[in-house]
Amino acid sequence: MTGKGHRLTGLGAAFIAAAIAKTAGLDVFLQTASALVAAFSTSLPDWLEIPYYRKGVRTGSLLKHRTYTHWPWLWVGLIYWAFSIKGPEGAAMIGAATGALTHILADAPNPMGIPWIHPRQRIRFGKKGWWRSGRYETVLVSLFTVFGVWVWVQVNPDNPFAKALTQISKESVKQINLALQPQVQNFITHLSSYIIF
Ligand SMILES: [Zn+2]
Repeated sequence: MTGKGHRLTGLGAAFIAAAIAKTAGLDVFLQTASALVAAFSTSLPDWLEIPYYRKGVRTGSLLKHRTYTHWPWLWVGLIYWAFSIKGPEGAAMIGAATGALTHILADAPNPMGIPWIHPRQRIRFGKKGWWRSGRYETVLVSLFTVFGVWVWVQVNPDNPFAKALTQISKESVKQINLALQPQVQNFITHLSSYIIF
């Protein structure tokens, strides 16, 4: 994923961080703080490598690219730790870790892969990875945003905004069903006209 793509996943990350913060027992103010930190942490794993640039192009980094800072378990551990720390520090940790994990997940399908097990050993999906960095960004960002909002709605079922969203999605599913039903019926009739029983 490109830098812009990573930044755009911040919206989905914010909703997920707010949901995790609520699960950790943090109040609404700290849930919002977590969300804000997450929104701005989706490039954190690349920045923490202390990159150096020549004429605006990244030429290397102090930490080897996509190693320790891209090791998911470091960030999962940070979230786990935040649950016992709570308070503003816990909120910040949840936000930063959620943003970082979002970044790592978005990097994972690329040919370079990410270090799933050993922090210095990158593993790719399949022989060449699933897709190159920069592909399918609009789809990925949209899916991630929908997923983030969905997670948040699950954790906040009584929130008026969540209730409205649930209502809207139920209503849309109903409308889509209604619109599709005659077409499906036609299609089945069409198919069965070719089949001789
Ligand atoms: Zn990265």
